[in-house]
Amino acid sequence: MYTRNCSRKSLVTLCALSVCAAGLAVAPAALGRDRVETLLQSLADAPGPSGYEEEVRAIMVRELKPFATQISYDGLGSVIAQHGAKGPRIMLDAHMDELGGIVRRITPDGFLSMQMVGGWLDQALLGQRWVILGSKGTVHAVTGIRDIHVLPPEDRSKVFPRNDIFLDVGAKNAAEVVALGIGPGDAVAPDSPFAVLNGTQRYLGKAWDDRVGCAVVVEVMRRLAAEGHPNILIVAATTQEETGIRGAHTAADVVHPDIGIAIEGGVAGDVPGAHPEETQARLGAGPGVFLYDFSEQPNRRLISLIKETGQAEKIPLQFDLVSGYGDDSAAIQASNGGVPVVNIVVPVRYTHAHNGVIW
Ligand SMILES: [Zn+2]
Repeated sequence: MYTRNCSRKSLVTLCALSVCAAGLAVAPAALGRDRVETLLQSLADAPGPSGYEEEVRAIMVRELKPFATQISYDGLGSVIAQHGAKGPRIMLDAHMDELGGIVRRITPDGFLSMQMVGGWLDQALLGQRWVILGSKGTVHAVTGIRDIHVLPPEDRSKVFPRNDIFLDVGAKNAAEVVALGIGPGDAVAPDSPFAVLNGTQRYLGKAWDDRVGCAVVVEVMRRLAAEGHPNILIVAATTQEETGIRGAHTAADVVHPDIGIAIEGGVAGDVPGAHPEETQARLGAGPGVFLYDFSEQPNRRLISLIKETGQAEKIPLQFDLVSGYGDDSAAIQASNGGVPVVNIVVPVRYTHAHNGVIW
């Protein structure tokens, strides 16, 4: 009963805040729109491909520190922020990393090839702006695109494979590239500044998977620290999710959770061409609760508790099963001898691309 009550309180806040972060559909004034919007912007704009999460980590530490009774790290750089000293250990997880690339090679004529990091579609890569995190600071780049004026007609509707793609930093030769302070091993992140869409409370930006989750866990920590709770709440902002759910694994080794709740960017199906058997989530229609993905299965009693909580608190919930989707809750589920988990999402349009939309 104790655990159940404790969990209910966390979950109520979680669900409410998922809605809040996704567009403030519940109680905009009470939830502090300006603060959340500012946080969403700083998190989305920070470059942090898997394994290069430093800038995002600095934001998370800055935001969590005022409320955490203790902050530690795992060996892969995940942030582990604790509030409360007694009760069940509730691991509330969001991952800091995003898709990106790593510079592979500098060509003699001053272009760079790139190893992609995370699950990219080849057609998402061409003609995009990127930043390279070099030793002398950020370098701007574009993935060059073949010019239609010289392309044979049969190639004009073709997808160009990722290994044909190159980065152009405006250098004349390899020496100029080196002088910019960039080279093999440097991280490459999408360059897609945050924007509020046309006077709405809908947001355009990169990396909503999972920076929107990072914003939600910060808000949950903030509110539960103020309201009080009978749990050991442990917020884990993890690394390297997109390359194999690695940071959640190592963070769970440190946390020893009794319950795991991952907060993620979900896959919205409310766009032209989407099929309801693929995903059913809609923007602005409430937090999504995953009933299945390829990496984890949620605990059924935890799902029941979330449903009851949603009804009692009048929080609209969406339920989804997405076969091509994995998340940090998988690593938490398989830790500490087996842990009840759930993955709760803020639906996102166009994940794993330069520009995503949330409400
Ligand atoms: Zn994610």
